[in-house]
Amino acid sequence: MKTIMEPFRIKTTESMKIISKKERIKALEKARQNVFLLNAEDCAIDLLTDSGTGAMSTKQWAAIMLGDESYAGSKSWKRFEKTVQNITDIKHILPTHQGRAAEAILAQTLIKKGDVIPNNSHFDTTRANIEYVGGIAENLLCKEGLDTNNVSPFKGNMDIEQLKQCIENHGKDKIPFAMITVTNNTGGGQAVSMANIKEIKQVVSQYGIPLVIDCCRFAENAYFIHEREKGYSDMSLLEIAQEMFSYADAATMSCKKDGLANIGGFLICNDDTWAENFRNLLIIREGFPTYGGLAGRDLEAIAVGLMEALEFDYQRYRHATIQYLSNNLDEIGVPIVRPNGGHAVFLDAKKILPHIPALQYPGIGVVNALYIEGGVRAVELGSVMFGQFDENGTELASPLDLVRLALPRRVYTQSHFDYLVEVIKEVWNKKDQIPGYKITYQTKFLRHFTCHFEKISQ
Ligand SMILES: *Cc1c(COP(=O)(O)O)cnc(C)c1O
Repeated sequence: MKTIMEPFRIKTTESMKIISKKERIKALEKARQNVFLLNAEDCAIDLLTDSGTGAMSTKQWAAIMLGDESYAGSKSWKRFEKTVQNITDIKHILPTHQGRAAEAILAQTLIKKGDVIPNNSHFDTTRANIEYVGGIAENLLCKEGLDTNNVSPFKGNMDIEQLKQCIENHGKDKIPFAMITVTNNTGGGQAVSMANIKEIKQVVSQYGIPLVIDCCRFAENAYFIHEREKGYSDMSLLEIAQEMFSYADAATMSCKKDGLANIGGFLICNDDTWAENFRNLLIIREGFPTYGGLAGRDLEAIAVGLMEALEFDYQRYRHATIQYLSNNLDEIGVPIVRPNGGHAVFLDAKKILPHIPALQYPGIGVVNALYIEGGVRAVELGSVMFGQFDENGTELASPLDLVRLALPRRVYTQSHFDYLVEVIKEVWNKKDQIPGYKITYQTKFLRHFTCHFEKISQ
């Protein structure tokens, strides 16, 4: 059979309301033309993020009832620790309430002012945590990763030459650790090869620099390695993940991604001194080290979810849904970023709306049209989100204006995708009538969440 169907049946449903186009126009006006300010229940298909928005399995819900809520040394903690150790073979496991809490502890215990942290591409919370303690977050993405038309299989890789240069320029004493983010979320959910991780580890080891993996989508990356890298097609996803972690000295995780849970994270490491320092901060910030800001039932749900994320049939289905969406968009001719990432499809708004100048935000034009036409909520990754200004305060355009359709895990069925494709087709057909926008209110940091827009009449 060539159809790759959902490897699950539906046992519980959550009804969704589909409001009329007239009501959507009104709702968006009330939200000042910013989809972040909409009520979630006014969105039919919500593709704002894949973080914490997934559906849990019957096994996860059953595990929740087994949650041991003892303050210290609970059974749920033991199960969580054993699972994470089975996947990573890393010694010290510290649960956190989500990924950025793990990043904050890592940054605050290890980074001094002026230190440099290389990464393929820093995720925004990682960058913020590094900069908050005075560190410098350097992106060393490979050249292919910058070209939206390049179809290389591992566009998330780090550029090894740039890494060597970075270490030579700053000196190893300024680099308390290096990072690699799998998959590369900021770079479009693109895959990182095992060869790249191995080579990074070899380079940094020569200087005695430890390697930290930002492993939020480790299972999606393991699937990419299985499919695209020579020598891995006979290995299980668990074995591939185990090899990935064998090159790591530490890792940070958001279990809202490949933990298939709605909340949670962890920080893990091999070094005993690091672990002691991490634990000291964990106790102040998150909680006792055997629950770290999570309930026992959360630890249970994550322990089950981490292993489910490594099931081959699940990953094959997840990647097939993304392929299905991108194939359909190809047929219509809508420009998208290639190749497919692991958790989202990215529309190229600059190419869809060539009549809109970058500083009239083509990404917002597409995002708002998707909402008005079909109640689909997406997010702009472009001039608004990366909002940068030169020294005179003149706003700069982002090199790329993308619209991300992030896919929650195990939530939407094929008919939801068919509906989504119809909505995108409708937007594509009306693209000449889509207006640009101007910002009428904004904050200094992370303006995209709260700013107000107004349509510019053509
Ligand atoms: C989501 C994410 C984080 C932060 O995790 P939160 O759980 O949202 O705090 C860090 N790195 C990457 C790559 C992510 O995708």
